[in-house]
Amino acid sequence: MKEKIGFIGIGTMGKPMCLHLLKAGYPLMVFDINPKPLEELKAQGAPVGQSGKEVAAQSDVIITMLPNSGDVEKAILGEKGVIEGARSNSIVIDMSTIDPSVSRKIAQVLSPKGLKMLDAPVSGGQMGAIAATLAIMVGGEEGIFQKCLPIFQTMGKKVIFCGPIGSGEIVKIMNNLLAGINMIATAEALTLGVKAGVALKTLYDAINASSGQNFAMQNYCGAKAFKGDFEPGFMTALMYKDLGLAMNLAKEEGIPVLIGGLSHQFYSSIVASGLGQKDCSITVKLLEDLAKVKLRL
Ligand code: NAD
Repeated sequence: MKEKIGFIGIGTMGKPMCLHLLKAGYPLMVFDINPKPLEELKAQGAPVGQSGKEVAAQSDVIITMLPNSGDVEKAILGEKGVIEGARSNSIVIDMSTIDPSVSRKIAQVLSPKGLKMLDAPVSGGQMGAIAATLAIMVGGEEGIFQKCLPIFQTMGKKVIFCGPIGSGEIVKIMNNLLAGINMIATAEALTLGVKAGVALKTLYDAINASSGQNFAMQNYCGAKAFKGDFEPGFMTALMYKDLGLAMNLAKEEGIPVLIGGLSHQFYSSIVASGLGQKDCSITVKLLEDLAKVKLRL
């Protein structure tokens, strides 16, 4: 018998992840504060709960996929949250990208109720969620990780056990620190190259076959921004949040993150200008406007 799964947070990532769980035959109940994305899942056979509490009461494993630390804390520990409904021995898996100290705190509160928790943030973007090719970075007890591995393998291609609770988040945040920096560096380099007179396609093809190639260039830019599409994908507000998590961690550990800090401020300026809901590749558009060139493939 497959575990009954409750899924909370049916957004850009959560929805395709739910569709894979359904396809793999997991009994699934879903909840989101926004009723709109729930309709499609209901039509696919997933009953809709009225709260995190109701979903948790029906589930062996409860997965959250929510924007930030505050949302996860509220959905799990808040009023009508998971903690009020979950049965002893259930497993809570938070797959959002949040502060590792919040993952540890939630796990500590759940533990006396007999509930186990894993932090399991993902990488690979919306396309990875749709194709079930996500990388999943997991923290928590290794035995619980092994028990949940088939669930993770339904949604992702590479599942990595990272260490105790919070470790998955640390790995994910370091990944996004790099991805966020790469996004800005790619936009800068390619804008300058085009301004200096070389066609974007030439720059793109040559760098993709050279040492400057990176995920942001191929996925955020090549697949979207360079086609004039700045809709998420991966919202700038989320990238700003993730680099903020890296800054928090750097402060806690007393480690300087110079380029990361600059990049965090760059995303802050995009969010402040009202473009936080656009894809993080909106960076390209800002530099295009500054340089008065267009980067289109
Ligand atoms: P999203 O905003 O598209 O979806 C989040 C969903 O959570 C929304 O439908 C929202 O209504 C719902 N929600 C918010 N608070 C809630 C609550 N208290 N109870 C129930 N539902 C609630 O966000 P997303 O892009 O799917 O990202 C989710 C997480 O995954 C974030 O932590 C993000 O950093 C991470 N992530 C996103 C991507 C990406 O490319 N979008 C990639 C990797 C990781």
